[in-house]
Amino acid sequence: VNGPPRFSDVNYSEGSTDRQWSKRDFPWTKELEVNNRRYFGNHSFRPNQREIINATMSGHDVFVLMPTGGGKSLTYQLPAVCGPGVTLVVSPLVSLIMDQIMHLSEANIPAAYLSGNMDWSEQQEILNELNSQYCTYKLLYVTPEKIARSDYLFRNLESLHRRELLARIVIDEAHCVSQWGHDFRLDYQGLGVLKQKFPTVPLMALTATATLSVKEDVVQVLGLTKCIIFRQTFNRPNLRYAVLPKAKKCIEEINNFIKERHRDESGIIYCFSRNDCEKLAEQLREFGHKAAYYHANMDPDERTSVQRRWSKDEVNIICATVAFGMGINKPDVRFVIHHSLPKSIEGYHQESGRAGRDNLPASCILYYNYGDYIRVKSLLTQGNVEQSTGARLTINSGTQLSTNIDNLRRMLGYCQNDADCRRSLQLSHFGEKFDASSCKKTCDNCSRMVTYVEEDVTGRALQLVQLISSMGQSFSLSHIIDVYRGSMSQQIKKHMHDRQELHGAGKSLSKGMVERVLHRMVYDNMLREDISKSDLYGSISSILKVNENQVTELRSGKIRLIIKVPEKRNTNSGKPEASSKKVLISAGSSPSDEGSPQQQGPVDPGLSCKI
Ligand code: ADP
Ligand code: MG
Ligand code: ZN
Repeated sequence: VNGPPRFSDVNYSEGSTDRQWSKRDFPWTKELEVNNRRYFGNHSFRPNQREIINATMSGHDVFVLMPTGGGKSLTYQLPAVCGPGVTLVVSPLVSLIMDQIMHLSEANIPAAYLSGNMDWSEQQEILNELNSQYCTYKLLYVTPEKIARSDYLFRNLESLHRRELLARIVIDEAHCVSQWGHDFRLDYQGLGVLKQKFPTVPLMALTATATLSVKEDVVQVLGLTKCIIFRQTFNRPNLRYAVLPKAKKCIEEINNFIKERHRDESGIIYCFSRNDCEKLAEQLREFGHKAAYYHANMDPDERTSVQRRWSKDEVNIICATVAFGMGINKPDVRFVIHHSLPKSIEGYHQESGRAGRDNLPASCILYYNYGDYIRVKSLLTQGNVEQSTGARLTINSGTQLSTNIDNLRRMLGYCQNDADCRRSLQLSHFGEKFDASSCKKTCDNCSRMVTYVEEDVTGRALQLVQLISSMGQSFSLSHIIDVYRGSMSQQIKKHMHDRQELHGAGKSLSKGMVERVLHRMVYDNMLREDISKSDLYGSISSILKVNENQVTELRSGKIRLIIKVPEKRNTNSGKPEASSKKVLISAGSSPSDEGSPQQQGPVDPGLSCKI
């Protein structure tokens, strides 16, 4: 198979567009169709399933990129029942594995799993069965640390392999391999050993989330030097997206929104902290909703019970941290609300993607304010990242940290963008081009009735840089805004020892406008924020600093800072076009900055236009 090689030492081809994999005359075609019905009760295949199965059964290594709920499990479970031998499946979480084993046993497919916290005797029993001549297991699930740390398991796998009974190796949730991903697991890094030890056994890497860099990483780490990639669009046409400004009334808005749009329907609200989860669930109950909370600090039984009650619709709303995630399989989730900023676009796509698995319409709302960005960032800087397991991030090397911060910065850009299609913004992150006209007004930005014009704010940006520098790079964003707009408050006066010539230079601009310019400068790396936590009160402060390198380019005119602003509808027609352009943002732009989600006046709690 020859496709365009992308990486120097990797030769992979695009399976999704190669017609040979969809053919129906493979020796196993009939058996596949029969077993798909018999074991799994499916009457057909979903997109790419048949193709993936044909490729792996032909002995190729495959890399599968398929959205959550797309049906990845079938692509290895069905081959497992159609051929001899055992399929080894590496999966990151015991809870995920248990869920799979349960489904398999319901389908009468013999499967077992091994994990670190199992009794030794129990493990021994399973390994004995593997070693027996009449091993009945079709699938063996293991957690990654088993591969990394159990020589014993390895010897058993080798023995299986010698007897030609190691049918296939599957790495589920393969993005966990990559430090670039949102869910890195150290133990996944060791999985390269599988391809080294068993080069002839077909390997499958499956994931629902992979940016280009993550994909590259996975391919390298697993040693997939020759593999066929199957991918499909990550667009979820039935989901509607909106970013809304998060204000004090956020909880009332959420209450109204659920009552008006999703009364008694299932939903998830992702919160920043355990505390927020509990508080929000409590408030929603006071509003009369059936809400519960879920986070990593609860004991496992309690968590399982919450999840079960939600699955059975005894509870409608779960207020959760990201610990509530992987393996959630409820098809009729009608809304996913982010009460706080997700840590990456990839993470956001994954979390919001838990809505509408049944392909019926569902809403994804993200509440954003800049303060939350600071909160999440300070959490990252301290390495206190709650992974899906609830475990703390074990490594926090410099690269990992800057990757995390970069991911968060992109998320910030997404929230601040009030002009481009949300789908295009998300999908471009996955290396996928999306034509915004296909959105059909199903995101807030596409459904806005505003046209935007570009405005060059380079002059303003340079003034702000000068202001920040002349004030010794030791003040917060809001302080800088106040000085720039000429505030005469005591607080400002106190710090103005010298005559500050730029005090009031931005008088004609709205607060929101200055804020946008500064945020944009942070996003573009012209400014950075140093975050510190005051030990005394535990409050977080952020200080704006200048990144000289970037700014040099701005000064030299090599780059310019352009932002989109809503076109003024009732412009003074007598005014020549050029003059409004020339005055940059001062007189030319609307001081109210209408159209920006951050600035919109009273927010429509029903989100009528958008969701
Ligand atoms: P993924 O791992 O890609 O997130 P799963 O393998 O868990 O998705 O499958 C999601 C759901 O889709 C499961 O309930 C599964 O039974 C169902 N499913 C998978 N393939 C088919 C099919 N061909 N026809 C009908 N339902 C399917
Ligand atoms: Mg899966
Ligand atoms: Zn759109």
